[in-house]
Order: sequence, then structure tokens, then C-alpha cells
Amino acid sequence: MTNFRDIEGLLDERTLRFLGVGGHEHRMLIGENWIDAQDGARIDIINPATEQKLGSIPAASADDVNTAVNTARAAFDSGSWARARPADRERLLLKLADLMERDALVLAQLESIDNGKSAQIAESVDVTLAIGFFRYMAGWATKIEGGTHTVSALAAPREAEFSAFTYREPVGVVAAIVPWNFPLLITSWKLGPALAAGCTVVLKPAEQTSLSALYLGRLIQEAGFPAGVVNIVTGDGSNTGEALIRHPGINKISFTGSTKVGQLIGRAAMDNMARVTLELGGKSPVVILEDYDPEQAAAQAAQAIFFNHGQVCSAGSRLYVHKSKYDSVVGQLANLADTIKLGHGLDPAHQMGPLVSKRQMDRVCGYINIGQESGAERITTANSTPERGYFVQPTVFASTNDKLEIVREEIFGPVVVAMPYDDLDDVVRRANDTPYGLAASIWSNDLSRVHKLVPRLKAGSVWVNCHNMLDAAIPFGGYKMSGFGRDMGRQSLDAYLETKSVVMAL
Ligand code: NAP
Ligand code: MG
Repeated sequence: MTNFRDIEGLLDERTLRFLGVGGHEHRMLIGENWIDAQDGARIDIINPATEQKLGSIPAASADDVNTAVNTARAAFDSGSWARARPADRERLLLKLADLMERDALVLAQLESIDNGKSAQIAESVDVTLAIGFFRYMAGWATKIEGGTHTVSALAAPREAEFSAFTYREPVGVVAAIVPWNFPLLITSWKLGPALAAGCTVVLKPAEQTSLSALYLGRLIQEAGFPAGVVNIVTGDGSNTGEALIRHPGINKISFTGSTKVGQLIGRAAMDNMARVTLELGGKSPVVILEDYDPEQAAAQAAQAIFFNHGQVCSAGSRLYVHKSKYDSVVGQLANLADTIKLGHGLDPAHQMGPLVSKRQMDRVCGYINIGQESGAERITTANSTPERGYFVQPTVFASTNDKLEIVREEIFGPVVVAMPYDDLDDVVRRANDTPYGLAASIWSNDLSRVHKLVPRLKAGSVWVNCHNMLDAAIPFGGYKMSGFGRDMGRQSLDAYLETKSVVMAL
């Protein structure tokens, strides 16, 4: 008997096989072996839509992490990947992308039952973007180049001649730590540049959502990557994650998650002088200018906050509407929120799934209570949610008080706070009045005002008449407390490369 009988009919044969009858005890990948934790410890996999157990994953101990890092180190030092022909690295990355395309439905279904998101959206967004990103990064493998330099002021006799140039070399063993909101996609943001550059990797997916990473591990083997190039350790942050970030064999840490854990990782990285990329939290403003159509504005603001149930680091969680359009936009937004149909992500008729875990549901509901108690007006109806599962009603608050916790803190759920503003100076000051700086969006067809506004917003991404518009070629990352470094684009590749300067006396 399976633990997912009620959703079984909706799952592809291959997904069911991977999950196993009754829920597999999944294993993690170290070198070429799929193994259990040495001490046998395990973590349950819970479907957040049904609260049922789907199997379990190993909880890797410090010893397991040590084995994984040593395996990645041996693979790196062997040169089987780092010194492979760039065209071979490109070919394997493209092969992996093809296999992901073949199994896109399985990956999307795993993402849905592990995270709660819609399988249809996971396939068209998460999986499609991950495939596209691997293909984009595959192309960079053959385009890594240093430069030649004219020696200018060496302390050497004038008649001495020198030649100088730079090599770009892979940084070494990478620790990739991934959160649960876009498990496969964010994994691709880290594996793509690391593998294109010639690094080897120890990947730790979030304990709540490890299935797509484990499935990807199989595809990596099927594509023919040398053993040890990608190792996957499952487990929680405080044990498995801690052991990984503190391991002296790690040369670079790439992390996406909360600012609090990001700070801790940044400090740990410096102890070993590991390179570090941190993509952290946000409280991104959506700024509606007075010329923008209110109906459109409401629809777009809904998309900006409710996509992925608000569990997006760049979610548009603060909505600033010019006072002349405020009532109209916010009223329509609340109506839209009230009609969103909640239910499990395998049925395309459901518009919003559950949050990822009970912990996250409790956290978000806690903020909704805080919002109500602190005097913000809840303008959506508190409809009931499905009986089982970690569902949270999409919620719109109206507030005029910028100091409220719900205005200042990242909630990471389907909760937006709407606020009216007077003029551009007012909205710039308030949009920037946050410790975060990940993203912002501006909605207007007034080119002059838009161009004046863009440079004044302190955010790593500014979207105009769109929101959450991510692309493989465009760097993504935060100002201020939202992070350090960039994912995607050429800039992300650079973060997995060292520069070696060579000076030759001729
Ligand atoms: P988190 O703790 O920052 O988790 C992100 C990843 O880091 C997970 O793989 C986690 O492992 C791991 N981790 C946690 N503590 C660690 C440590 N001491 N050393 C090494 N790795 C560690 O985020 P969360 O607790 O799941 O979510 C809390 C809040 O973070 C959310 O409410 C949201 O505000 C924010 N968040 C932001 C993003 C983003 O995209 N920027 C993504 C997710 C969450 P385990 O989960 O397996 O313990
Ligand atoms: Mg789960």
C-alpha cells in the first residue's frame, strides 16, 4: 500500500517508480555510490498538501560530509573534470539538459509533491528555466579566457623583457546549499557555473525538498559525468549543512536562503577563506505610478506576491500605489486574492498549493496575526483552507504605518502589505527604507519617470512593467542584506574561477 494512494492516479509511471511502493528509503550520492548515512539516520519526506509521508532521505552526519568532500576533492585533483576538454564539459552539460527535458514531467511532479507548488507551473517555469540555464552555462565552458598584459612598472632592469598573461582556473571543491522554494532551479544556478568552470561539487538540498536533486543525481550519472564530480548529501542545516560549510576542504560556498543563515555561512567561509556567494532574503517593493491602469496593476501585483505562494526571495511583498489609484488597485487586488482556489498542486484547476511545511505555515500565520494585532487592516476575507495540508489563505493588508513588522520583515508567504504614497520622492524614500535590496518593480508607461526612478531604487534587480523576470543571461542577486555576489549570467561563472597571473622573464 502506498502512502500517496489519493494522488497516485495523477502521477506518471516514472514518478511512481522513483517514489517506490510505500515510499522509498532514498539514498544519497557520494562518488558513484548511492548510500545511506553511516549511522543510518533518516528524515521523513512529507507531502505538504496531504501531510502524508512519501518516504525518507538520509540525514548525513559530519563523517558522511567528510567522505563527500574528500570524494569531490579526489575527483577535482584527478583532473578528470577540471582538466577535461571544455568541449567535453559543454557536451555533458547539454546531455544533462536533454535528459532533464526527457524527464521534465517527473521532475515537475517531484517538485510539486515535495514543495507543494503546481506541477504544471513547475514544469513550465522551474524545470524549463533549469534546463535553459544548464544549456546557457554549457556554452560558457568553451569561452573561459584570460588575458595578456603589457608589463608596465616591474622593478627590473629596463632592458629585461617579460611576458605576462592570466589563466582562469576552477576554484576547486564547491559546497552548494539550496533552499526549498525552487529546489531544482536554484540547484541549476549553482551546478551550472560550477560544472562549466571545471569545479567539483557537494550539493546539499533543503531537507524538506531533496527529491528533485536526488533524481537529478541519477540523470547526472546517466549523462556520464565522471564519478565524484557531483556528490549529493541530504540532511538538515544544523548538522549536515554546518559540517559542510566548516569543512576546510571546501574552496567555495554558494548559498541561497535566509539572511540569518547567510551571515553565519559568510563568517564560516572566511575562516577557511572559501569564496562565497550568498543569495538571501528580500522585502521587494512593487511601485505603481499614477498613469498605470488599476485593473492591470492589481493583476500584476497579485502575480508578484502570489507566484509560488509568496515563497520567492524577490516576491513583491510591499505594494506602493499612488494615492490617486490606491483604493481601486487595492480593492481589486483583494478580490483577486479572495478568488484564488487552494488545493494540491497536481490538479491544474488549483491555483495555489500549500506552503512547504508546517513550520513555514505557522511562521506565515504568525505574521498574519501580528499584522492584525498591530493595527494593519486585513482586507481579504479569512476564508477557510482545505482541511489537510499546510495551506495559507492569500492575504492583503492595508497599512499607513511603515514601522510595522509585516512591512519590515520577510514573511515568505502569500501576504502583501499595500501602502499609498504621495509622490516619487516619498515612494523612493520608503521603498529604500529596508535592510534588504534584492529587487523592485516599477509599473508605468511614463518613460521619463521610469528612467528617473530606476537609478534611485537600491536593489539588485529593477523590473519595469514585469516582476520576477529571471533569465539565464541576467545576473541576479542583492544589494545590502540581500546578499553577496550574483547568480546567473557571466558574472556567476566568474565566481567559480580563480585568476592565475603568469609573469615570464624572457
Ligand atoms: P534557511 O534556514 O536559510 O535554509 C536554506 C538552506 O540552508 C537549507 O538547505 C538549510 O537546510 C540550510 N541551512 C540552514 N542552516 C544552516 C547552517 N547552519 N549551515 C548550513 N546550512 C544551513 O531557510 P529556512 O529556515 O528554510 O527558511 C526560513 C526563512 O528563510 C524563510 O521564511 C525565508 O524568509 C527565508 N528563505 C529565503 C530564501 C531565498 O530564496 N532567499 C529561500 C528559502 C528561505 P535545511 O532546510 O535542510 O535545514
Ligand atoms: Mg516535503
